Amino acid sequence: MRTLQGTPASPGIAIGPVRVLSSQQRSKPLPAGERVPAQELARLRAAQKQAEKEIQEIYERACTEVGEGDSVIFQIHILMLQDEGFQQMIRKSIVEDHASAEYAVWSAGRKLYQMFSNMEDEYMRARSEDMLDISRRLLMCLNRQTPSLDFQGNYLMTPAVLCLTQAVPSQIIRTNHSQVLALVTQYGSSTSHSAILARGMGKPAVVGLGEHFKDLPRGEGQVIVDGTKGVVIVNPTPETLEKYTRIMSAESSRRADLAAFKGMKTMSADGVRIHLLANINSMAEIQMALENDAEGAGLVRSEFLYSPDHCPTEEEQYQQYSQMLAQMGGRRVIVRTLDLDSNTSYSYLDQEQEANPAMGLRSVRLCLRHRDLFRTQIRALLRASVYGRLGILVPFVNDGEMFRQIRMWIQSLAEELKREGKEISEAVSIGVMVETPAAALQAHELAREADFFNIGTNDLTQFTLAVDRENRQLKSLYNPSHPAVKRLIAYAARAAHEAGIPVCVSGEAASDYSMLRFFLRAGIQYLSAPPPYILELRREIGRLKVRGKGNGGQ
Ligand code: PEP
Ligand code: MG
Repeated sequence: MRTLQGTPASPGIAIGPVRVLSSQQRSKPLPAGERVPAQELARLRAAQKQAEKEIQEIYERACTEVGEGDSVIFQIHILMLQDEGFQQMIRKSIVEDHASAEYAVWSAGRKLYQMFSNMEDEYMRARSEDMLDISRRLLMCLNRQTPSLDFQGNYLMTPAVLCLTQAVPSQIIRTNHSQVLALVTQYGSSTSHSAILARGMGKPAVVGLGEHFKDLPRGEGQVIVDGTKGVVIVNPTPETLEKYTRIMSAESSRRADLAAFKGMKTMSADGVRIHLLANINSMAEIQMALENDAEGAGLVRSEFLYSPDHCPTEEEQYQQYSQMLAQMGGRRVIVRTLDLDSNTSYSYLDQEQEANPAMGLRSVRLCLRHRDLFRTQIRALLRASVYGRLGILVPFVNDGEMFRQIRMWIQSLAEELKREGKEISEAVSIGVMVETPAAALQAHELAREADFFNIGTNDLTQFTLAVDRENRQLKSLYNPSHPAVKRLIAYAARAAHEAGIPVCVSGEAASDYSMLRFFLRAGIQYLSAPPPYILELRREIGRLKVRGKGNGGQ
């Protein structure tokens, strides 16, 4: 047994085998540019034959086990595999782009998968899963190394602790969440986006294992991940396993007790009302927000819709936003416009390497540079607005003038849509993220332009204290309750009150119980936190007395 110390990033305990993905592993087979088409076509033919043979064997086995009727799907799989449209797409990419057979199969399969997924007809939509299945088999027949990949990205065949060297959110987002027991990373800190994602998924996480990462067992062997203490126990003794199993069952009964707080208003012991919203990092979290009784979605990080190799079209985004709004059934949904930076490379953006991506061409700066990208997102959002109560949140703005221009431009896109005969809601609100010291100091000016404030304490802390939120060496210096940060929060909240607009806090500090009294005293009316935290926040707030002595929260 060995105990590896990292940084606690998402509470809870998980026990299971390890699946290590290195940052070099991509969520798709590499295009491998200059392949010889004739060779790749020959490989493809052999793999195709092998895949058909395997599916035929499965069909025959299924016929004897479940009967012919239920097995007919495997015959359909063979027909889909032989489909001329699918085959042509694969051959085209091999012959014209000199792509590897793996890449050609992957990209053709993914296109068809997405096409089926977006179909109205339920039966046709369900074919996307078949497309996934047959493409995965063809990929496996081409190269036995690829079964861990699918169109969503990393695919875990069985439940496992997902271990990543780099904290790459797109890798996590594209992993099939149901099989992820916990998350462990070599680099990153508790406010890096991978930690935020783990909290949203309700999975335990330990980040920043550093050099201990190499001691994780590959292949056989089990680990205990204790996300509350920030440790990973490798090959635990039977006594330790027993101890942690007991803690896990106590934890699940504690969670069950929290169900009693569903349906209640969130109010301090002395009657100060606050609204609890959910931070959303994937479609699955909408359901989690509802299950945890969120009063709305306070921060939808729309980046999850953008993968490194595929930029979602207006139609694709429209579908997703409409679904989100409809699912939230009249509760407010605040979607933050795209906040990407050059830390991850996106095939559809011409990105330069930057020394400081967090302060670089990111977020709304990037959107203003890539107007088409921004336009596509705003049009999709406005079109979807008729399905619920939408708020559009603009991140990384420093002053009123910049926000005013973006707002006017959004309004011009609304006019354009109306001219096209598209219906849009008249009640879309447009707010600003206060996440730089400049924005906080310009709060009065911003409050005159914006419909609401959303204070992003993660970035506000990083930039106020000049402490990189991703740097695990600085974790003791990264402190959202530093007086300087609190002073900026209180100042921005006061400006919002004076202008009569609502103010929400959505950074990780929103679920830091030690900051609740401060937030309530500062007059924050909304807290937006990962869904698994909402009921516990309600209980904690109910125990607090916030009136009385105090100076507006500082
Ligand atoms: C923040 O900066 O506090 C925030 C909520 O956004 P993100 O963590 O995505 O930067
Ligand atoms: Mg931010």
